[in-house]
Amino acid sequence: MNRNKIINEFKDAIRSENLKVTAQRLHILQNLMDNPNHRECEEIFQDLLQKGTIVSRATIYRTLDLAVKHGFARKMDIGEGKARYENRINETHHDHMVCTQCGKITEFVNNDIERIQREICSAKNYQLIKHSHQLFVICNECQSN
Ligand SMILES: [Zn+2]
Ligand SMILES: [Zn+2]
Repeated sequence: MNRNKIINEFKDAIRSENLKVTAQRLHILQNLMDNPNHRECEEIFQDLLQKGTIVSRATIYRTLDLAVKHGFARKMDIGEGKARYENRINETHHDHMVCTQCGKITEFVNNDIERIQREICSAKNYQLIKHSHQLFVICNECQSN
């Protein structure tokens, strides 16, 4: 999707929440768009800081929540009260494996799992809207440490 179009849609989303479109909020969205990783708010804060954008953590949290609510980002709860954010612009569906030791996140897609989930729902005549599937693991690096 076209970058300017996404930014314009995000501006609409901000306005629809009766908030002001600010350069900082747009920087947060752009930072999210340019990074394929699953990051904590703090990492996004540090990355913005490094690039010369000073935004309060509170603003980042609020803006990320807005991005999640309006479908620009996905929030993953990875346990222990921690959340990670990834952009979901042009995303293809995937699930996650989370290392409980180092926090590394690995994406995966398994067509059998996808199919079985649909079958479970259709057996009950339910319509599957979305799913979130997380495997908590100890990654190979952490196993060898
Ligand atoms: Zn690990
Ligand atoms: Zn992901």
